[in-house]
Amino acid sequence: MRQSDSLHSSGRLQQNHDFFPVHLIGLIQPHGVLLALEGTEFTITQVSDNTAAYLGMRPQVLLGQPLLKLIEPTILSQPLHHYLETCTEHASYVAISITTPNGIKDFDGLVHRRNGSIILELEPISSQTSQQTGLQAAAGLMSLQNTVQQTIASLRNIDDVTDFLQAAVTEIQALTDYDRVMVYRFDENQAGSVIAEVKPSEDISYLGLHYPATDIPTLVRQLYQQGLKRYIPDLTAAPVALVNTEDASVETTPLDLSYAILRGVDPCCIDYHQNMNVTGLMVIALVRDNQLWGLLACHHRSAKFLPYSVRSACEVLGQLIAAELASKVDKTELSYLNHLQAIQTDFVASIAKAKNFKQALIHPEPRLLDMVNAQGAAVCLDQDITLIGQTPPLEAVQDLISWSMEELSTELFHTNCLLQDYPAIDDFKTIASGLVVLKISQLRRYLILWFRPEVLQTINWAGNPNESIHVIDGDDTFLCPRTSFRQWQETVRATALPWQPVELTNAIALKHAIVGIVLNKADELAHINLELERSNRELDSFAYAASHDLKEPLRGITNFSNILLKRHSHDLDVVAVKRLKTLVKLAERMDGLIDALLRFSRLGQDKLKLQATDLNVLVPGIIDELKTVRDDGDAPSPQIKIPRPLPVVSADPDLIREVFGNLLSNALKYTHAPQPNIEVGYLTADEQLRGDQMNSTDVCVLYVKDDGIGIHKRHFQNIFRLFKRLHERDCYGGGTGVGLTIAKKIIERHGGRIWVESKQDEGTTFYFALNCDKSKK
Ligand code: ADP
Repeated sequence: MRQSDSLHSSGRLQQNHDFFPVHLIGLIQPHGVLLALEGTEFTITQVSDNTAAYLGMRPQVLLGQPLLKLIEPTILSQPLHHYLETCTEHASYVAISITTPNGIKDFDGLVHRRNGSIILELEPISSQTSQQTGLQAAAGLMSLQNTVQQTIASLRNIDDVTDFLQAAVTEIQALTDYDRVMVYRFDENQAGSVIAEVKPSEDISYLGLHYPATDIPTLVRQLYQQGLKRYIPDLTAAPVALVNTEDASVETTPLDLSYAILRGVDPCCIDYHQNMNVTGLMVIALVRDNQLWGLLACHHRSAKFLPYSVRSACEVLGQLIAAELASKVDKTELSYLNHLQAIQTDFVASIAKAKNFKQALIHPEPRLLDMVNAQGAAVCLDQDITLIGQTPPLEAVQDLISWSMEELSTELFHTNCLLQDYPAIDDFKTIASGLVVLKISQLRRYLILWFRPEVLQTINWAGNPNESIHVIDGDDTFLCPRTSFRQWQETVRATALPWQPVELTNAIALKHAIVGIVLNKADELAHINLELERSNRELDSFAYAASHDLKEPLRGITNFSNILLKRHSHDLDVVAVKRLKTLVKLAERMDGLIDALLRFSRLGQDKLKLQATDLNVLVPGIIDELKTVRDDGDAPSPQIKIPRPLPVVSADPDLIREVFGNLLSNALKYTHAPQPNIEVGYLTADEQLRGDQMNSTDVCVLYVKDDGIGIHKRHFQNIFRLFKRLHERDCYGGGTGVGLTIAKKIIERHGGRIWVESKQDEGTTFYFALNCDKSKK
């Protein structure tokens, strides 16, 4: 169904094809006459070589003459020169009666301007029509208008697109009486297929047949896109050449016939249609949103002349079909879009609520797939890849992700034939011929991939599309029309169903939602952190102020109690003295607690003075101090081993000294052994890996191990709480229950963590992680 003259689009042929001047063919169809006019006098510069037959004057008589002088047209409303002066690129109709040497002749006239020339085309009105009285003509037009209005009304009531098109072709067939009327729709590759048809019962059907893009050359396609129609009443009629003045001094350029309704037909187009047994032809463009959506094609076995008024009525119907089609297709798309949007809204809402963003993305699985109507998906968050539904195996997906990161620069990529861009998918094309890649972050490896399986489509080509290109004699290329319109089947492999624009819009919307949610979460976290910092600071300063203020009255209580004991003990009985002594002890203890609290609150306020801290210097110093304090002469000195040189850490040395001090003094305190065995060391990277420790080479895990009384498992967390002690006040040398709390706070301020492992009666090991000093490693 090649609707017009063409060369072919394929390789070298494509060039010929695109530049083939169908508009400069220099021929018109013989059912009318064409005059090209120039200048203010409307001088005739070119005419078709059939003027004698229609106007009773030979071209030589007309050429070089002002139109209005030669032909005295009688026009109903406006003088002809008005139409000529105001005409544009789009042809306007003018009914013309011309007084010729053979009498008055009536014409349907079309006038348009093209490249500086005015082109006037005249088609004689059939003698039958022209003999009608004005009343008869008006009645005829009114009945046509009624028919069109009724057709429009009945078509508007049909919702289903297929039914609508079928009704439209039926109405147009009834109006025009063409043998076959079809609607032909283009796909995204400009190939097309017949989607509605009415035909004589004995003829073969073209319904469902596909036609390659090459069937319609680019130029003709562009003309159709501008809404032009093509009317060829008799393909077999001998064309008429355009002739121009023989005066060599007058330069004439080939006339551009792009918009001429009479434009001649090239021989290939004639052969092409004659192979389909077509002689009469009319094609109307179906344009939607400035895109050539399809064609309305009318075929007739014999020559078929159609009055201009009926052709115009068909044109109006064509526009209606295009407009209605747009709204009907839009409605279908809209309801699908609504469906997808409902999924998306639900999805986004649950992601926003979820604590674990990734889990919300992949559970329940169908939701992510339904978003774009895919059968498989892969969610990649850095190294973490989750596969959902039907996907290639993990390794293949990993390779595809790497390819996407390297090769794809846009946030959204989609294809329904991945094999063309990524041959490595060959082994998995049955499940991944269609691919959408959504990049959530340009910096990080955050992507969502959706897969669609291969759909083995059987396309019924109308004849073998490759058959129409024939190369003859080396460089000379000719287009020959197909000789066969038998169904020619081609199976298109490695191709999935194409992704719909609404599905892709949804993918982008998902990205924006995710980015929005992630950003919101980050904002929320930052806000919470700020709040936390502020309230921690407030708490610290409150604790500091409170403990500081408490100290003074407490000092007063202690002092007065001591004074009472010293100066007035003789006035008091034994019980009162004993109670007073307890009061002093309790006040001293409270003083100790307040000191500990003061120390603890100060920790949150002072700035960290991070520096490379060599533990081989720091730890032995602490051990010496502790040994000195503990030395009571008789008891054997404790064993504190350092099995291998300690690392250099990035830390505040004063604070780390305090941590080691607390842990070591506890190790010395909480034991029954006369000579406790204590060890200070660190875990190697291997040891960190084996245990479930912080396994980064940037982090040192240090430990203080003893063989003391041990701690029950249930107290592993408690012991780090402020003032928490596991023993009676005076057991194991007493204490405030603040040492471990301070150690924890110091380690956490360094960005590390502290934990304990212990067995009762066997011993305890405190571990804590600090950043290594890289410069000293
Ligand atoms: P304090 O030693 O002043 O009581 P800490 O905060 O240092 O306070 O310790 C809290 C509690 O944890 C101690 O009272 C003790 O019961 C327990 N504890 C701390 N270190 C050890 C250890 N090495 N062995 C056994 N128990 C310990």
